[in-house]
Parts: sequence; structure tokens; C-alpha cells
Amino acid sequence: MVQKRVLIFAEQVNGELQPIGLELLGSGRLLADKLGATLSALVLGSNIAHLASTLIGHGADEVFVADHPELAQYRTLPYRRVMTDLIKSWPEPPHTILLGSTTTGRDLAPRLAAHLETGLTADCTDLDIGPFEYSNSKDPSKSGLFRDCLYAIRPSFGESLKARILGPWKNPQMATVRPGVMVPLPWDGSRRGEVFQVPVQLDPSDLSLQIVETVRNLSQTTDLTRAEVIVSGGYGLGSPEGFELMQQLAACFPNSAVGSSRKAVDSGWIPYAHQVGQTGKTVRPQIYIACGISGAIQHRVGMDKSRTIIAINKDSSAPIFKFAHYGIVGDLYQVVPEMIRQLQQNQS
Ligand code: FAD
Repeated sequence: MVQKRVLIFAEQVNGELQPIGLELLGSGRLLADKLGATLSALVLGSNIAHLASTLIGHGADEVFVADHPELAQYRTLPYRRVMTDLIKSWPEPPHTILLGSTTTGRDLAPRLAAHLETGLTADCTDLDIGPFEYSNSKDPSKSGLFRDCLYAIRPSFGESLKARILGPWKNPQMATVRPGVMVPLPWDGSRRGEVFQVPVQLDPSDLSLQIVETVRNLSQTTDLTRAEVIVSGGYGLGSPEGFELMQQLAACFPNSAVGSSRKAVDSGWIPYAHQVGQTGKTVRPQIYIACGISGAIQHRVGMDKSRTIIAINKDSSAPIFKFAHYGIVGDLYQVVPEMIRQLQQNQS
């Protein structure tokens, strides 16, 4: 019997798995169970054999490891080559392939889709499997009942609609998924899975691009998606200096980060890496403290799955109070220093 697969691409950087891979496993597990399929993970890099057990513990049934010095750092052509060679070596293509909408995933997914001659839905916020009945009078060969389609769900028209995008005519059905949206499965050390080494055969033309140096933009190290507490500032801060206060409040919590609304980013008060929302990052911290943020829908979609939302706004009718768990009506320049004072007092 031919094996049905859901394949996820697990990103790693310097031998460390990126959170998106585990998030894709969480979502991929649901899809694979609905399809009665195997959940497969593919990881590429150099000296990365140790990552396979983490992927299995977080839901993978099998892990394909492509371990080669030329794969140490992400480059489009070698990664694309290894992935397409592996997928084409299988008797059946995977039913579904998932990648993250990260910088790497956004670069790799379209290349892969083009080589596999299939469709791709970018930047999904939800996924499901379901039937689809299609009738096309102009091309009846395309008509029919498709039982197991990938529903690739993503916001469109400025979040006013949720589009369900389907491409059931050819497998693999591909999607990229927004980081921070899907929930990883808890680690289960008793899970067992198979690990396969992937043969790596590169063409000299794949190596035409050499990475001379990697320079990290320090602002990009603000890992909002991993922080447990996010203190976010909006246009209500009134000036870029307001973010110093946000930083001071964030410093009262371990594993915290500073976020912002787009209006503060567009005003040049803080770099884009801090932006939360539809066109920024999607976050799900334990605590999200929104200071001087009105709660526009484009901001809300990036943070409303936070466990506890605390809003500070001087306008009692600000939309953010409709979905915050705790609201403080007041001037943030009075409220936040008092919060800092009390938090510091409790720590000492
Ligand atoms: P405002 O809406 O101006 O709100 C400022 C708030 O601060 C007000 O509620 C005010 O009462 C309060 N305030 C003022 N002074 C004080 C004070 N001293 N103390 C306490 N409260 C005070 N936005 C995002 O955030 N992220 C996105 O990813 C994003 N993507 C977008 C994509 C599209 C296609 C579009 C059209 C818009 C997008 N936006 C996004 C913009 C979004 O619509 C809002 O304009 C933006 O979120 C508003 O930012 P804000 O809440 O900081 O500012």
C-alpha cells in the first residue's frame, strides 16, 4: 500500500530547531490523523542528527535528516535540490507539505512548489482537511467530489474576510503557515519514530552562491514569538522615548520582550521587528500588556490568543477593552511607573 504523508519542513539555525518546526508538527499531526497519514518531518543542515528525537517527541512519525556541510546555512538552491530529490524519490508525493512563513520558508516554498508543479497558499493562520465538490462546465475533467482536500485558511482583504483556499487537483497541496499561530504538541519522550538519512547529491550550479559573512541585525534578535511576557507600546506613547518605559516594565519579568503597534513602527519610533499584528508578528505569550494601543483589528489578530491581556488606555471606549482580560483606564505615564515600582518592590 502506498504511504500517505503530511510533510513538514523543520527549520534549524546553527543546529537549533526554530519554534516554527514544532508549531507545524502540532498542526500537521491533526491533519495527518484526519487523513490517516504518516506525519513526516524533514530537517536539513550540518551535524544535526540530534534534532530527530526532538521532532519525534513533538509528534513526527518519521524524520528525514539531510546532513551535509554544504547545508550548514540556508541557501535556496541546495535546499530546494535536496527536498525535490527526496520527494520525487517517493512512489507517491506527500498529500500536504507545510513550511513556515519565515524568511526561509517564504523563499523556499515557491521554489519547491514550482519544481513540484503544484499550488501554494502563503501565510495561513489555520489548516484543516475536508471534502470539496467542484463543478466546472467549461472543463468537466476538473469537476468532481474531492474527499480529502487541504483547507488552507488565511485572512484576506485586510482581515475583513477569512479565505479558504483549496487546490485539490494535484498533490502535494502546499501551504506556508504564519509563525506563532499553531500550537506545538507537548514533548512526549515515550514517542517512537523512524529516522532516515537523506542522500545529498548537489550539482555545482547549486553552490554558485557562497555565504561570505552573516551579520545579525540586533533588532531582529527581539524574539517576540518566544517571549512569555510582552510589553507593547502604541501611538499613545506619544514619542519614541516612551519605549524606554516599555523596556523598563519588560525588564521586571524574566523572558520578556517589547512589542509595538504598526503606527508606532510607521512613526519611526521602533524597528519593524517589534511589530505585532497582521503585517507583523503573531504572538501568544502568557501575558500581553498593551500600553496606549487602541486595539485595531489588524493589531488584535496578532495577539488575541495571548493567555492574559492587560490593556492600559486613557480612553475607556477604546476597542482594546472589548477583548482585554484586565483593563486599566488611565494615563500610561502614571500607570506604568506605578506598576514598575510595585513589581520591583515585590522582587526585593
Ligand atoms: P492609535 O489607534 O492611534 O491608538 C492610540 C491609543 O493610545 C488610543 O486608543 C488612545 O486613547 C491611547 N492613548 C493616547 N495617549 C495615551 C496615554 N497617555 N495613556 C494611555 N493611552 C493613551 N497595526 C498593527 O498594530 N499591526 C499590524 O500588523 C497592522 N497591520 C495593518 C495592515 C493593514 C493592511 C492596515 C490597513 C493596517 C494595519 N495596522 C496594523 C494599523 C491598524 O489599523 C492601526 O492603525 C494601528 O494598530 C493603530 O495603532 P495604535 O493603537 O498604536 O494607535
